[in-house]
Amino acid sequence: MGQLFEAGAVACSDDGSPVEDAELTRRAFEYCLMFDKPLLSHSEVTSLTKGGVMHEGMVSLLLGLRGMPVAAEDVMVAQDITLAEITGGRLHVMHVSTEGAVSAIRRAKQRSIRVTAEVTPHHLTLTDEMLKSFDSNFKMSPPLRSREHVEACIEGLRDGTIDVIASDHAPHAAEKKMRELDQAPFGVIGLETTLSVIITKLIRPGILDWATAIEKMSLNPAKILNIPKGTLQIGADADITIIDPEINWTVNVAGFHSKSKNSPYLGWEFFGKTNAVFVAGKRRL
Ligand SMILES: [Zn+2]
Repeated sequence: MGQLFEAGAVACSDDGSPVEDAELTRRAFEYCLMFDKPLLSHSEVTSLTKGGVMHEGMVSLLLGLRGMPVAAEDVMVAQDITLAEITGGRLHVMHVSTEGAVSAIRRAKQRSIRVTAEVTPHHLTLTDEMLKSFDSNFKMSPPLRSREHVEACIEGLRDGTIDVIASDHAPHAAEKKMRELDQAPFGVIGLETTLSVIITKLIRPGILDWATAIEKMSLNPAKILNIPKGTLQIGADADITIIDPEINWTVNVAGFHSKSKNSPYLGWEFFGKTNAVFVAGKRRL
């Protein structure tokens, strides 16, 4: 880990998989601490989610699909927080999706444990009901939850418990996503729709103001990773996204720059879109 950090790594993670071994997590916190780096956790107890396709609840029961219970996330977030507390390490919980996880992170912050968290656009806007279509573009890990968990994630975002909105962009080849639901891989793309989802579903209804939303997509991630980004100060890298907040557009496969098309928002109508992207002063889009 030391060599990785010296080579420029900004954080440590096994994302895609959780680190379930508590002793390994504890050591990872201790080593990260020496370099002042955060540990990014995909919090899941895999013995509880084994064979699971979607959120465990009434809809999974109706559809006869194997469920992934909220406890799988709640238990691991609790373990990660406890280990962050005893080591003094910095925990960042990725893609939070349950009411229990939001509550645990809120309590941990109140006790000054060094924890930050993120949520994805799909966990803020979609529920397990979407799986009634048997469309694998609604299959991700953690899974889409029921309405009360979506509400808890939105509340966590609003009250500052959740620091970051992250796309959790996970491209997959069409032929893999076209397999039957239990065979298709987990994950959806999000880079090209995240901003529009946030504008349409959070900013326009007044749940977040512009400054807070932008902060959660740029400044806060940079702070957590301790990189000098997310600001337009003089001397900062000219990484700039220019946004048209009013444009009305419909998501369609042909419009994607991404080679992968596995979006859960195909056919949705959104307000707001990226007009131009500059990276280090050069226009890229
Ligand atoms: Zn993950």
